[in-house]
Amino acid sequence: MSTEVVYLKEHINHDSSGHPENAKRLHAIINEIEKTFFYKDLVFIDPKILPEEMLLHVHSDEMIQQVKDISFEGGGWIDMDTYVCEQSYDIARLAAGGLVQISKDVLKGKADNAFALVRPPGHHATKGRSMGFCLFNNVAIAADEIARNGKKVLIFDHDVHHGNGTQDIFYDRKDVMYQSFHLYPHYPGTGDTSEIGIDPGEGYTINAPLSHGNGDKAISTLLDKIFIPISHQFKPDIIFFSAGYDSHNSDMLGGLKLTANFFGKIVAQFQDIQPKIVCTLEGGYNLDWMGKCIVSQLGVMTKQPMNISDSTVESSNADDIIATLKSELKNHWVL
Ligand SMILES: [Zn+2]
Repeated sequence: MSTEVVYLKEHINHDSSGHPENAKRLHAIINEIEKTFFYKDLVFIDPKILPEEMLLHVHSDEMIQQVKDISFEGGGWIDMDTYVCEQSYDIARLAAGGLVQISKDVLKGKADNAFALVRPPGHHATKGRSMGFCLFNNVAIAADEIARNGKKVLIFDHDVHHGNGTQDIFYDRKDVMYQSFHLYPHYPGTGDTSEIGIDPGEGYTINAPLSHGNGDKAISTLLDKIFIPISHQFKPDIIFFSAGYDSHNSDMLGGLKLTANFFGKIVAQFQDIQPKIVCTLEGGYNLDWMGKCIVSQLGVMTKQPMNISDSTVESSNADDIIATLKSELKNHWVL
């Protein structure tokens, strides 16, 4: 039994103090993991850089060139939210490269499961645009690499924001399924229940937009009624988690009410479908809590579960969304 962790130490050179997506995030996570009794059992590896040509499988030439140019000019901003530092072009390729590496190790059975502690995050980066703190779409690059070798990939996104970039990249494909719950309306504005994919990909994008106050109970029901039954029928060869912790009840950029233990429970439910699980860090901005949420997942992945004291009040439910999704998806899945 082994859990591989790729930790991108160079992430410190992609930093903007005062910006929520800063280098302190990974430091807080590592500090929390170091305190656990399973820390000694984790197999840490260094990432290898992703070759430039592999970015082109998922992103446009112009978009890659833009990140490269701003990096080489010493840094700047792609949009109001998204910064690039002098070394960001390389760091973003190390983040994606690290995720590709561990996902291949899990697929081959070299590791049972794995976690990518990397930044910048990726799920908002579309085919042609870096945005929302994301330069390149790490999870999409890794999922595409595995799918082009004939495997079926499920991406489950538990970030509070919709992963519009990942959806965009796989919207017409049925070899990579994208599932997400997210706060709605909220940035980036996409992720309605009616967005279910097109052409061969119709039915392979599943979105559950949730109102403020939804938490563990609502998402448990969604898992039981929608996400898990569809995943069983899809039969993925590997499962990626776009692991965002801004859905935790304390997050300043959020509005959902998940508790720390619940992040581990989500992983446990998907393990029954496919134990080959790879998580990659997306959002999460409360430095006191995101490490605890990750520890809850790593506890499940290493079979040494932790119980983290955390409670909140949930004030809504997902019953309407479940009914709508059943109707939207009835031609594709038995629900
Ligand atoms: Zn987010």
